[in-house]
Amino acid sequence: ARTEPHPDVDSAAARRAYELDRKHVFHSWSAQDLLDPMVISAAEGSYVWDGEGTRYLDFSSQLVNTNIGHQHPAVVAAIAAQAAKLCTIAPSYANEARSEAARLIAERTPGELNKIFFTNGGADANEHAVRMARLHTGRKKVLSAYRSYHGGTHLAVNITGDPRRWASDTASTGTVHFFPPYLYRTAFHSTTEAEESQRALEHLEQLIVFEGAATIAALILETIPGSAGIYVPPAGYLQGVRELCTKYGIMFIADEVMAGFGRTGKWFAVEHFDVVPDLLTFAKGVNSGYVPLGGVAISPEIAATFGTKPYPGGLTYSGHPLATAAAVATINTMEREGVVDHAAFLGNDIIGPALADFAIRHKSVGEVRGKGVFWAIELVKDRETREPLAPYGASSPEMNQLIAACKSRGLIPFANFNRIHVVPPCNISVEELKAGLAILDEVLDIADGFAA
Ligand code: PLP
Repeated sequence: ARTEPHPDVDSAAARRAYELDRKHVFHSWSAQDLLDPMVISAAEGSYVWDGEGTRYLDFSSQLVNTNIGHQHPAVVAAIAAQAAKLCTIAPSYANEARSEAARLIAERTPGELNKIFFTNGGADANEHAVRMARLHTGRKKVLSAYRSYHGGTHLAVNITGDPRRWASDTASTGTVHFFPPYLYRTAFHSTTEAEESQRALEHLEQLIVFEGAATIAALILETIPGSAGIYVPPAGYLQGVRELCTKYGIMFIADEVMAGFGRTGKWFAVEHFDVVPDLLTFAKGVNSGYVPLGGVAISPEIAATFGTKPYPGGLTYSGHPLATAAAVATINTMEREGVVDHAAFLGNDIIGPALADFAIRHKSVGEVRGKGVFWAIELVKDRETREPLAPYGASSPEMNQLIAACKSRGLIPFANFNRIHVVPPCNISVEELKAGLAILDEVLDIADGFAA
C-alpha cells in the first residue's frame, strides 16, 4: 500500500471542505453543533487519508460496506465505462448492467430466491420486503428483534430494535419486538447456548400465539445482527425461527445488508445456518458501497403474487446502471480474487485466535464474538458483574478515550456503546490486519486501566 503523502490530498481544499461542511452540511444521527468531522480526502484499499495527509487503517470499512476496500481499480473502471456508455435509465426499461447484476446476485442467494428488486440502500430494501410480505399474506404486523438495526427511514427505523434510533412516531407501524438469543446478557436466565436458543424460540412462539399468528405478515431478523453488537446465533436458533415462520404462515425476512456479500466468510450469512428465508435484503457490500445500491431477493411464491397484478412500489433509481455496473464488477472481482474464502480464513486463523487471546490477557474484555471479518469486542468495567464500559444506547468518556487512542495510532475503529468491532475490508492483507490488531492490543491496555 502507498504510504504518506497521498498525491490527491490538498490541505487547503480540505480545510475549506471542513468549513463548508460546518456551515452547510446536516449530518446523520448527530447533534449538529457538537460534531467535528474528520475530512477524508483520499483512500486506497484498506487505508484512508485525512485532509492533512495522515494515513489511517480503516478497521470500520466505513459503515461496514467497503468489502473490497477503497478504489478497487476493476470497480472504478467499470463505473467509468458505464458512465461513458449510459449513466441512467428509468426502472421500466431493461439494461445490460442491471440484468447481469440480478443474475450474479440470484446465483449467489440461497434456495430459489431468484428475482431481484433493486433499491438505493438497505432501509428501502427492508421497507419493500415488508410491503411484499404484507401484500402476499394479507396480514399487517411485523416481528423484529431487540438489539437490531434495519435502517433510518420510517418503517425501517420502527422495526429497528434500538430505542436510541426510534423517532417520535414509534409504534405506528404494527411492529412487535422480541428478544433474540444473547447468552452473555441473557433475558432468559440461560446458562448454556443450547438453553438460550431453546428459550428464545419458546419466547418467540408465545409472542406469535399471543399476538395472533393470523395478524403477522413478517418476521425480520439480521442473520448475524451487526451494528447492534455482532451476535452469532446459537446452533438451531435460525432453523427454529424458520420452522416457526413456516408453521404460522409468517414470511421470514433475512436482513443481510451488513452480513452479506462475503463479510462472514460466505456469500450470505444464512449459509452458515442452512436456512432459506422467504425474502433476503442486501445493500452495502453488493458493490463495496461505491454507488448507492440495495435490494430484495424474492421467493418464487412471493414473486408469483405479483405475476399478473402489479407490485405497488418503485424508485426512480431502482437498478441504476452505475450502481449495478459497480455490483457486477465487485462480484466478479470477489470471485476472481477469492475474497469470500479469504474472509473465512482471516476469521478462523487470524481474528478469532487474536481476539480469544485478548479476552484472556485484557481484563476489560467481557466477550468476543464473530465470524469472518465481522467481530465485536465487548468491553466491561468489571468481568464479574459484566458492567459495560458504556451504558446501552450511550457513549462514555472511557469509550471516547479509546476511540481517540485508536485514531492517534493511525486506526479508524468501528465503535458503538461499549463495543469495538473488528470489521476491516474482507480483502485486507494479513500484514495490514495484524498491524491493526496490534494497535487494538495497545488500546486495550488503556481500557484495562478502567476495569476493576
Ligand atoms: N440493515 C442493516 C443490517 C444495516 O446494518 C443497515 C445499515 O447499517 C441497514 C439495514 C440500512 O441500510 P442503509 O443505511 O443503506 O439504508
